Amino acid sequence: MPDVRETIETIYQQVITRNPGETEFHQAVNEVLESLSVVLVKYPEYADQRIIERICEPERQIIFRVPWTDDKGDIHINRGFRVEFNSALGPYKGGLRFHPSVYLGIIKFLGFEQIFKNALTGLPIGGGKGGSDFDPKGRSDGEIMRFCQSFMTELYRHIGQYTDVPAGDIGVGGREIGYMFGQYKRITNRYESGVLTGKGMCYGGSQVRTEATGYGTVFFVDEMLKAHKDGFEGKRVLVSGSGNVAIYATEKVHELGGKVIACSDSNGVIIDEKGINLELVQQLKEVERRRIKDYTKYETDARYIEKGNIWDVPCDIALPCATQNEINTKDAKTLVKNGCIAIGEGANMPTSPGGIKVFQDAKILYGPGKAANAGGVATSALEMQQNASRDSWTFEYTEERLQQIMKNIHRDCFETAEEFGEPGNYVMGANVAGFIRVADSMMALGV
Ligand code: GLU
Repeated sequence: MPDVRETIETIYQQVITRNPGETEFHQAVNEVLESLSVVLVKYPEYADQRIIERICEPERQIIFRVPWTDDKGDIHINRGFRVEFNSALGPYKGGLRFHPSVYLGIIKFLGFEQIFKNALTGLPIGGGKGGSDFDPKGRSDGEIMRFCQSFMTELYRHIGQYTDVPAGDIGVGGREIGYMFGQYKRITNRYESGVLTGKGMCYGGSQVRTEATGYGTVFFVDEMLKAHKDGFEGKRVLVSGSGNVAIYATEKVHELGGKVIACSDSNGVIIDEKGINLELVQQLKEVERRRIKDYTKYETDARYIEKGNIWDVPCDIALPCATQNEINTKDAKTLVKNGCIAIGEGANMPTSPGGIKVFQDAKILYGPGKAANAGGVATSALEMQQNASRDSWTFEYTEERLQQIMKNIHRDCFETAEEFGEPGNYVMGANVAGFIRVADSMMALGV
């Protein structure tokens, strides 16, 4: 065991040296590497074949210029990224994030997590991620369209249904995917439905794709609760964020008998003890693209706390569905102290390493993003299946498939954690189960 730990520590130090300043990427790598000592002991051939070092280095990293013109005629220049991380299991697959915080380190952390998440779905998809430091906030529809077209004018040459299949993430929803798909079609003269997922229903999208990440997260937490003879019925739930993931997580919690009492956006928190009015959030955020603050204009019993911290609200279950590192050590301690019994990560890497340790020490149910939010990309793979067979499935059938995939992911994580001697540790279960699938394919495919 000691030499194995040393091997892993050396690999981690190499990753830091090779990728200076990319702190989110270091964090994501460290979390996975911490789970892998037991794997190297059981399968020394992975170390001999330097599988971990190979997984930590992206197969290809693309950085490009995205010039566009705003409504006043001024020209802006943003930076675009696509990191094609690992294609051992299938074409690179992962979303695009448009947010001012985006730089290579964020895209690499997301792409790295995507490798293992996608492996956990059991579907044939590799890992990748992309995006831009473009800030869509306050931009008109025309500006968004011109930006998306410019972004695709470069990206199109790197993607394809058998190569790399992007989708949405923060700042990229149905509207943006539509504009990008239109531009891809225009440039290539190919109606290649399977080149992007998250498409609208009228041009090759899949039922349930919009809902899938949020629904999947709740299905995963439900499985964790069921393993302890518990469920959502009567539970007080916090769902951070108010985007696509948060909205559909809230819908599914309500369907399963729980009550979501708070949600948030980057400006503040809404607390509504009657239960969050989902149609209102949807109208404000998705249709009118307004701030969550306006919720209290329509639901006058609800409270808005400007710059408030949602994790201070006492709850039974917390679903972080906003962004990375939104739960720090102190927030995790508050959640545990207030009696929270389960965490399900709808966002990618929303809990800091210190926060994860607090949850694990307290032995509460903790479903890491790689496993808990895999429903989104899994349903993207179902969209690819439908596109490949020129078919379109019903909502009911697609949701059944999603639910079964989430059950399988839960079972794999649960059983892997038991097999490797840490029952109940879903972090190690997810990392190890995902890693072994990718590692075995890499071994089979040669150096
Ligand atoms: N952005 C989502 C994720 O983090 C979905 C990616 C996809 O559907 O390709 O998994």
